[in-house]
Amino acid sequence: MTGKQIAIIGGGPAGLMAAEVLSLRGYAVTVYDAMPTFGRKFLLAGKSGLNITHSEDYARFVTRFGPASARLREALDAFTPDNVRAWAAGLGTETFVGTSGRVFPTVMKASPLLRAWLRRLEAQGVRLLTRHRWTGFAERGLTFETPDGAITVHHDATLLALGGASWPRLGSDAAWTTLLQDRGVVVNPLQPANCGFDADWSEVFKTRFAGAPLKSVTATSTAGIFPGEFVISKHGIEGSLVYAHSAALRDALARDGKAALSVDLMPGRTRERLARDLARQDRKATLATRLRKSAGLDGVKAALVREVEPQTNIYDPERLAGLLKSLPISVVRPRPIAEAISSAGGIDLEGIDERYMLKALPGIFAAGEMLDWEAPTGGYLLTACFATGRHAARGISDWLSGPL
Ligand SMILES: Cc1cc2nc3c(=O)[nH]c(=O)nc-3n(C[C@H](O)[C@H](O)[C@H](O)COP(=O)(O)OP(=O)(O)OC[C@H]3O[C@@H](n4cnc5c(N)ncnc54)[C@H](O)[C@@H]3O)c2cc1C
Repeated sequence: MTGKQIAIIGGGPAGLMAAEVLSLRGYAVTVYDAMPTFGRKFLLAGKSGLNITHSEDYARFVTRFGPASARLREALDAFTPDNVRAWAAGLGTETFVGTSGRVFPTVMKASPLLRAWLRRLEAQGVRLLTRHRWTGFAERGLTFETPDGAITVHHDATLLALGGASWPRLGSDAAWTTLLQDRGVVVNPLQPANCGFDADWSEVFKTRFAGAPLKSVTATSTAGIFPGEFVISKHGIEGSLVYAHSAALRDALARDGKAALSVDLMPGRTRERLARDLARQDRKATLATRLRKSAGLDGVKAALVREVEPQTNIYDPERLAGLLKSLPISVVRPRPIAEAISSAGGIDLEGIDERYMLKALPGIFAAGEMLDWEAPTGGYLLTACFATGRHAARGISDWLSGPL
């Protein structure tokens, strides 16, 4: 043992990973979490199978973190997707690569992995304290609300791993933003990431089609062109294909006050071919009949064409074919951050040093989603939380050991 005491605040993937590294290095580690149990968001991620990392070419993988990619690179290099899989296997959770390249535990859930992980941490001597809500700084210490009242604790170093702002009822409520801003830390506004969007649907359309999936389409925005599917919701649009475009749509809304997702309802057919097929339709045929007979489109896809362009000139095959190939779905705002899969924004990366220590608060480090980076769904979020947790842990260890 080194005799040095370390506080880790936040028992999600980033904090627990840091606890694993630091306890192995002989530090006395205490993990504090406000909730009655650890890793609630991790467990929720397990409800949809726990996409723990991604198997794509590593050179591509490391570009998925937007402008923060270069800054995260060192942490990711030290804990790559292969390392994530080996680590999970070491805790008894084997993984497999799904058809999309995404990696999941074979059991498709998080609970066995989390249980084994917490057991390992306890065996390594980590103190795991739940129902300890960090409330701020005292002179040379940290204050917590606990079931027994307020306490102040002192440690040699602290890691903040408090998460972002999505799904606050699972614990990450971003109350930390003001605590850090008051101490001179620059925190960029937290915004929804991997989120749905509101659209101005007519009453008729949303009553009839809320919940209906649009399968086998492609969608384009400044983020690129991706195949997939999404769902009409009573508010607008939701689902994995929308999440892939959500940063681009959100940023366009903020910049231009408007944004649209361009959807190709017929990716397997060219515009020219569609126009020819539409031109052959009977002059008296309705829009619904034309779309069904020429393109095999009905249900929600056909209704969406009418919804987006109520004045569609059904006698203009060129224009109609154009709409089927790039139907512009206007979105008006992102759904609230509380519903998003993750959040963008957070501690400005300029405000941490190469060890992930806050420049404004020596001895206090940060990791995970509370740092300002974002990534699409696909296992990138968890991988970066693990990797930054480990990186900050090594940073703490280096800082505590002082210059050699
Ligand atoms: C529905 C859903 C599905 C997801 N699926 C996936 C997926 O399949 N793959 C993927 O890569 N990512 C997924 N994610 C995202 C992933 O779960 C998060 O990015 C990740 O959990 C963030 O880890 P973290 O350790 O930074 O923060 P968190 O997991 O949010 O943990 C932060 C911890 O800090 C605690 N805390 C907060 N404030 C305080 C305080 N004041 N005092 C004490 N403790 C505090 C919280 O209780 C919490 O336990 C999903 C997210 C959601 C919401």
